Amino acid sequence: MQCQDMEKFIHVYLDREFAEEDRADYERHLAECEQCRRLARFEQRFKAQLKTSLARPHLRLDEREAIRARVMQTLAEAPPLPADHGTGRWILRLVPAAAAAGVLMALVLGRGDIQPAVVGQSLMANTNNQPLEVRTKDPHALQNWYHEKLGIAIVPPTFTDGRTSLVGGRIGQVEAKDAAHLLYSRGDKNISVMVFHPENVPFHGMVSRNIGSKNVYFSYSKGQNVAAFRHHGVGYSITGALPRHELDALVRDVLHQPSGITEPPPLNAVPVKAP
Ligand SMILES: [Zn+2]
Repeated sequence: MQCQDMEKFIHVYLDREFAEEDRADYERHLAECEQCRRLARFEQRFKAQLKTSLARPHLRLDEREAIRARVMQTLAEAPPLPADHGTGRWILRLVPAAAAAGVLMALVLGRGDIQPAVVGQSLMANTNNQPLEVRTKDPHALQNWYHEKLGIAIVPPTFTDGRTSLVGGRIGQVEAKDAAHLLYSRGDKNISVMVFHPENVPFHGMVSRNIGSKNVYFSYSKGQNVAAFRHHGVGYSITGALPRHELDALVRDVLHQPSGITEPPPLNAVPVKAP
């Protein structure tokens, strides 16, 4: 097995969905490869953390009571159990419990995604194919466009891998505020870089890991990896369907570049065009 396959199948491995032979293959590579071991450990922690945050929602007492009341009601309304509780029937007894658990999960999850808004907004930005407002390969032209639109100077990052190139930009959203959504292409894939004001943009609920000396926050959903961080007083998220070590390299490029916003955004100075 190659390192790329290791990364591709990490969730299959951690979810114990491998056939025995493949699992043995996988573990043989793990035993030999420090880099893949590190990745597996990281993903495992990520999963564990996700599980804990799901299992221990921070509910207030009255919310907990409301959920308990709803669950009890659901149980009361469930059809009566069959009289025969003999062999093979035990599973029927689990059904109302499972239904209750479903209600509980729906209520708990309904309180809001456990991921901060920036994750969902970054994922949507990268996968929704919203039309670009400006199309240019020239970072300076894009910088000027954002300056005119948002009243701030955003420096589009340049990537050193030689295959992630600027396509253009639009105005996106992070939390309830305007953000720069820069689109890059990388082969046949999109990479989105959101540049935003980090104030009131929480990263809690994401897994953090150091890149250099910087705390970088990660999330993963449906094949897309998201990395979010603050740098020189600017918030960034980078999103793409790419392996995490390649995403790391993009993050490193941004960390090695000068500030993404060269002056503080005077929010009331956003130019308003006369009708
Ligand atoms: Zn490896």
